[in-house]
Amino acid sequence: MHISRPLLPGLIEACHAVIVSNADHLGELDRAIGDGDHGTNMKRGSEAVYAERDQLGSLPLPEALEKIGMVLVTTIGGAAGPLYGTLLIEMGRGLRAGRGDGVLVETLPQAVAAVARRGRAQAGDKTLLDVLYAVQRAVLKQSPPAEVAAYAMSAATDTIAMKALRGRASFLGDRSIGHMDPGACSCALLTGSICRFLEEFPSA
Ligand code: ADP
Ligand code: MG
Repeated sequence: MHISRPLLPGLIEACHAVIVSNADHLGELDRAIGDGDHGTNMKRGSEAVYAERDQLGSLPLPEALEKIGMVLVTTIGGAAGPLYGTLLIEMGRGLRAGRGDGVLVETLPQAVAAVARRGRAQAGDKTLLDVLYAVQRAVLKQSPPAEVAAYAMSAATDTIAMKALRGRASFLGDRSIGHMDPGACSCALLTGSICRFLEEFPSA
């Protein structure tokens, strides 16, 4: 899966659309086990990237990814900003370093590992990492985009039964069980949107 530069603005638009239309839902999920701001945080970050989509599309992909990551760190805020930001920055750095022969998805393992270090989190902690690990597994075995999206949503659904061990939701202990993690949900929604986009543009 390559993402060529002219497609980046379209991809940004697709991600923006899914966040805007699900911001209330993400807020509700975060109200149940956090402080209720995940929808507005993600929307703020998404709007900032969306506003710069044409300029980002004119940059070489590694630089564009790093720049998006930095915008996300500074605009999403909360716990999720530095985590999503780290993911994009590390993917950009990985591409720049020539990791995976310039194939974007091959930069995922290092980038996801950097997110885990940043959050001091691991699989099963009921965070967006649970979705990132599922996406990583699916893309590395070259699953088609629709399957990657399904794995991502299924991983988000699996967080419902988990007890949160990281982030604000962990303060609730057992009471965090029975609710989907908001970050896992945003991550699965973004994955779904990216996969649908890549299905429409298979050369991406
Ligand atoms: P905040 O928790 O600061 O209000 P958000 O509500 O925007 O930030 O994001 C919450 C999401 O961030 C959680 O649902 C979870 O997926 C993710 N998260 C929080 N802390 C961590 C962590 N230490 N490691 C990985 N993900 C985390
Ligand atoms: Mg929150």
